[in-house]
Amino acid sequence: TAAAIEELIIPPVQVNYTKLLINGEFVDAASGKTFPTLDPRTGEVIAHVAEADSEDINRAVSAARKAFDEGPWPKMTAYERSRILLRFADLVEKHSDELAALETWNNGKPFEQAAKTELPLFVRLFHYYAGWADKIHGLTVPADGPYHVQTLHEPIGVAGQIIPWNFPLIIFAWKVGPALACGNTIVLKAAEQTPLTALYVAKLFHEAGLPPGVLNIVPGYGPTAGAALARHMDVDKVQLLQPLALRLQIAFTGSTDTGKVVLELAAKSNLKQVTLELGGKSPFIVCEDADVDKAVELAHFALFFNQGQCCCAGSRTFVHERVYDEFLEKSKARALRRTVGDPFKKGIEQGPQIDAQQFEKILRYIRSGVESSATLECGGGRLGSKGFYIQPTVFSGVQDDMLIAKDEIFGPVQSILKFNDLDDVIRRANATRYGLAAGVFTNNLNTANTLSRALRAGTVWINCFDVFDAAIPIGGYKMSGIGREKGIYSLHNYLQVKSVVTPLKNP
Ligand code: ADP
Repeated sequence: TAAAIEELIIPPVQVNYTKLLINGEFVDAASGKTFPTLDPRTGEVIAHVAEADSEDINRAVSAARKAFDEGPWPKMTAYERSRILLRFADLVEKHSDELAALETWNNGKPFEQAAKTELPLFVRLFHYYAGWADKIHGLTVPADGPYHVQTLHEPIGVAGQIIPWNFPLIIFAWKVGPALACGNTIVLKAAEQTPLTALYVAKLFHEAGLPPGVLNIVPGYGPTAGAALARHMDVDKVQLLQPLALRLQIAFTGSTDTGKVVLELAAKSNLKQVTLELGGKSPFIVCEDADVDKAVELAHFALFFNQGQCCCAGSRTFVHERVYDEFLEKSKARALRRTVGDPFKKGIEQGPQIDAQQFEKILRYIRSGVESSATLECGGGRLGSKGFYIQPTVFSGVQDDMLIAKDEIFGPVQSILKFNDLDDVIRRANATRYGLAAGVFTNNLNTANTLSRALRAGTVWINCFDVFDAAIPIGGYKMSGIGREKGIYSLHNYLQVKSVVTPLKNP
């Protein structure tokens, strides 16, 4: 209705790019196949997108290979590459409302979140890596002998990147930024749920002067297009008779299992290096000295942000017994106050889940919580009758061995557990196969120091959570992943070291 449309912050955007982007051109899939991409608010089709499969991956890798081997990309000066990254960031900034709208339409996240937080972070990530492009130095090495020894830090070659649907643009930026800054070329598979913004920004990249073949985008499904990328040897193998230096950079939002498949494909093909960012079951620890109101708000944010669809979600809320009852009461009230609805509307905190599969999975976990006799404090069901909306849900009395305390739910379901002392909570917080992140809420410096050392996780947020910044590395301990992304650490994923040794005196 007209009234409903008036409530929208901005009108819906147009979908202009739905084909594969290979060698700087939009092309159909070799098979001619397409797949529908959906609006999570309704489950209706937004557009049909070209579906890449192994033949398309071959074409894309071939283009990326050529752009790497023959240039101009790795042969340009670092400053020229940096300028292109900066021009691209400027173009994204110019189109940022449109891009935020497209991100919301395809993903269901609140428009205000996309526009005010995610697009600025996307731009910041490219500014950050543009800054690195011309600051990549090797070393002069003091060897035992009359030699001049230096190391060159060189790009690896063609990077394969497989990204998830929960932060389609941000994860695009934290992979594409460092890979290009270091002089690599890329074949990127966007998630099948959310291919639209990757195609849009890749188009802008070419307007900013990116040479064809440097960045190729191949939307498609995981077991077909994704697996083809993970197992790729070298399209030019017959001619070159050597394996392609295909560097694979991967982020999985939910499934450590898929990470294992990708690692196995890499091992069975050409031993390409793999970076994995996988699932989590991160503890959020509320200590006895906590200001309860603040702790409630932060724990709520840690879990419910982005519809609960964050790899690092604080999905085990451990609360000290002394503040437990008050914390529980207030957390429940906060969840009941959470505004859920059309993500285009002003003031909405929570939109729909990404798709029917995730929606059903979350509802199954909620049923399992009830069956395992955790106390359902609020929520627990679907909201409305269309789209993939779920009520903000809070469980109390959760025990460590319940499925809802062990598995990654990836939805708006908070599990509250009680603890009585620091040793107890350290042991229990670490008793998980995951280790992506942890949150600590305390005013006691000793407690903060003890916990930040003891927790086996790639990020520990003290009195804050989900602080994402271009310069702060992210990655997992244990089965949450291999390697680190963002910050200076991400450069290591896209560089290899060459030692050059010269006698000081010619023989
Ligand atoms: P999620 O549960 O968050 O969807 P997935 O691991 O299924 O996590 O998906 C993350 C990304 O991995 C997506 O781009 C998906 O298409 C891709 N993917 C899924 N299965 C495979 C596979 N067998 N090989 C390579 N990539 C895959």
